[in-house]
Amino acid sequence: MYRGTGAVLNNPDVLASLGKRILIVTSRTAGERSGALADVRAVLNDSGISYSVCDSVRPNPDLDDCLAVADIAKAFGADALVAIGGGSPLDVAKIVSVLAAGMKASDLSENVSEVPALPFVAIPTTAGSGSEVTRYAVILDHKDRSKRTVAGDPLYPAAVFLDGRYTENLPLNVTRYTALDALSHLVEGYISNKATNESDSLAIDGMRLFGMAKNALVNGKLDHNDRTRLLDASHLGGLVIDITRSNAPHAMGYHLTYVHGVPHGAACAVFLPEFLRFNAQAGGEKIKRLLEALGMKDMNEFEDLVISLLENDVRIADAEIREMIPVIASHSRASNSPRPLAEEDLFAIAKRSVGNRETSL
Ligand SMILES: [Zn+2]
Repeated sequence: MYRGTGAVLNNPDVLASLGKRILIVTSRTAGERSGALADVRAVLNDSGISYSVCDSVRPNPDLDDCLAVADIAKAFGADALVAIGGGSPLDVAKIVSVLAAGMKASDLSENVSEVPALPFVAIPTTAGSGSEVTRYAVILDHKDRSKRTVAGDPLYPAAVFLDGRYTENLPLNVTRYTALDALSHLVEGYISNKATNESDSLAIDGMRLFGMAKNALVNGKLDHNDRTRLLDASHLGGLVIDITRSNAPHAMGYHLTYVHGVPHGAACAVFLPEFLRFNAQAGGEKIKRLLEALGMKDMNEFEDLVISLLENDVRIADAEIREMIPVIASHSRASNSPRPLAEEDLFAIAKRSVGNRETSL
C-alpha cells in the first residue's frame, strides 16, 4: 500500500511494472474529478506503457456492466487493470480481473479461488467503500431485487494508492453518504458475532478517526486532515469487514438501493441506530465502547449524527417492508447479528428506521 500526497507520482514503478497493456477502469466523473486519472496517465506516458481508459462504470453496476468491461479488456489485450473510483469501479475491476482472465460468468460465486486473474491496482477516490482492501465485489442482483457478492482471494488488488487529495473535490452529499458507508462497515463489523480481537482493534481505530471528522462532515467544512482521516477510516472499515463481513443493515440497505435508488452508504446507515438499539441488550458493553470511540455520549447522539448526514428522509410502506423481509432474513449478512434476528425483529427494525411515521408499531 502506498499512501500520502502524490503517492501515484512518487511510486511510478508500481504502475510501470504492472503490465504492458493496461486498461484503466473508472466512472464518467471519478477519474477526472479526483485528479487520479491525470496522475496515472502521467506515469504511464512517462513509462511508455500502452493504456486505454474505460470510463463507463455506472453507480450500482450489475453483471452485464462487468461483462461489457471484460469484453473491452479482452479486445484491448489488457494484461493488467487500474481501477479509479468509489466502490463501483473498484468492484467492477475485481470481477473483470477474473472474467478477462478466462473465468465464465456462471462460475462467479462467493468462493472464487485459485483462478487466474489480471493484476489490478486500486485507487479509491471516495472515503467509504473500503473495497481496496477486501476480497469482495458487490453487484446488483435483479433476481432478488437486491445485491449479490462475489468473493475470493483472487479479488484482492495487487497494490493500493491512498491519497486524500483525490477525495477533496467530491460533492458534500457524496462525501457524506460514502462516509456513512465507512461508518456502517466499522460499526457492523465491530458488533458482529464474527468479530475478532484484530477486527475490533481496527474498528476502534477507524471509529476514533471517524469521530474526529464527524463535526466537519455535519457542518460541511472538511479540510485536508478531515479528508485523510475519513479515507483512513474507510480503509480500516474495509479491513474490518474483510474479516467479519458486513451485517444486517447492509442486507437491508441493498433493498433500498435496488428499489428506491438510495445511495449505498445512506441505505445501510439509516438502519444502524435501531440495529444497535436492538443489540444493546446482547452487547451493551461493546456499544458503550463504540460510542466512546466515536466521541459520543449516547445512542441518541449517534442517531442524530446519522440523520444529519442522510440527504433524504426515506419512508416506505409497511406492505413493502413485509415483502422485503424474507429476502433480508435469508441473506447471509443477517446472521452476523450478535442477537439473533427473527423476521419480526427485522420488520421492527426496518419499520422504526424507514417506516411511515403516522402508523404506530
Ligand atoms: Zn458498504
